[in-house]
Amino acid sequence: MHPYKYIKTNEANTAMKAVTESEKAVFLAGGTNLVDMVRRDVTHPDLLVHIKDLPYGQITPDAGGLRLGALVSNSDTADHPQVMKDYPILSQAILSGATDQLRNMATNGGNLMQRTRCPYFMSPDFPCNKRNPGSGCSARNGMNRIHSIFGTSDHCIASFPSDMCAALAALDAQIQVRRPDGTARSIPITEFHRLPGDTPHIDNTLEHGELITFIDLPGETKAYAPKSVYLKVRDRHSYAFALVSVAVGLVLEDNRIQKVGMAMGSVAPKPWRATEAETILTGKTPSERLFKEAAAATMASAQGFGGNTFKIELGKRTIARALHMALNKA
Ligand SMILES: Cc1cc2nc3c(=O)[nH]c(=O)nc-3n(C[C@H](O)[C@H](O)[C@H](O)COP(=O)(O)OP(=O)(O)OC[C@H]3O[C@@H](n4cnc5c(N)ncnc54)[C@H](O)[C@@H]3O)c2cc1C
Ligand code: SF4
Repeated sequence: MHPYKYIKTNEANTAMKAVTESEKAVFLAGGTNLVDMVRRDVTHPDLLVHIKDLPYGQITPDAGGLRLGALVSNSDTADHPQVMKDYPILSQAILSGATDQLRNMATNGGNLMQRTRCPYFMSPDFPCNKRNPGSGCSARNGMNRIHSIFGTSDHCIASFPSDMCAALAALDAQIQVRRPDGTARSIPITEFHRLPGDTPHIDNTLEHGELITFIDLPGETKAYAPKSVYLKVRDRHSYAFALVSVAVGLVLEDNRIQKVGMAMGSVAPKPWRATEAETILTGKTPSERLFKEAAAATMASAQGFGGNTFKIELGKRTIARALHMALNKA
């Protein structure tokens, strides 16, 4: 393990200034992802800036929706009465991940920023373009059971494993960011993470030193609450990342689907919005046949790499089942 310095602050400006002063400095929130990577020699920061005491630890009503502080723990977010009532798929998604202990430590901002679980990325002995640009991708012709079937490139086929972010994508969340120069910006969740292209070492659109402050859930997507579900398929029932997951919310009127939000997790380098399914479903009368048609259209552009090809059929079945469950939710 490489040596590093550590500071703790309760001021956002101090934290951002400290991180911008060194290219290798990073924010430390719950530490459940970062500390693992430092210990395993996957990443070598020279400074950890502990931000857990910054004033972003509340959940508050905002513009008809809900504003989640970036430093609220995943547990407190999932258990919040307003999240459970108005955005139940977010609660379900968070509770389907990791363990109680991890969720108590993990923060919302850290969850957005978590890195892939590709085993070659996490093992410094293997070539990996994401960890060491230009070294090659061991997964393409190696073990790729958990890897992406959408959005890959010749340089990287890693998947983004967050459950929380799949739900945030279906709910049209906005990520609020504070910049070191004192300005702020807002990024739609679907534009926050990026595809690997020929720069797979860059996971997202956050610039060095920028701080995630809040995640905003819009008032409009509360309408999904009565007919929504987060369905996660994995190797074990607990303490396992998704192989495929689907977050879906429906709004029905006169037995027609008036509005639908659907996103998949663990199938792409970012939460994958199922736009084909959304288009096919909108305005139609729900039926099992329609659900299968929507599922097939979404998965039509998926590409497997051997070990993960099973995800294409699994994805179809998971979408159709999630839609069935959402429709029939009491
Ligand atoms: C064994 C295990 C099982 C897991 N299972 C699941 C699972 O099933 N599903 C799932 O979705 N996740 C799972 N996780 C991942 C877990 O959700 C993440 O590790 C956690 O959400 C990261 O949050 P953190 O606060 O601990 O982040 P940290 O580890 O502190 O930080 C992670 C990254 O985020 C950056 N960061 C943190 N906060 C901010 C901020 N406010 N602004 C800018 N950058 C920031 C840090 O600099 C760092 O790069 C699992 C993790 C482990 C260890
Ligand atoms: S899939 Fe991406 S993260 Fe995994 S070995 Fe290839 S380049 Fe590295």
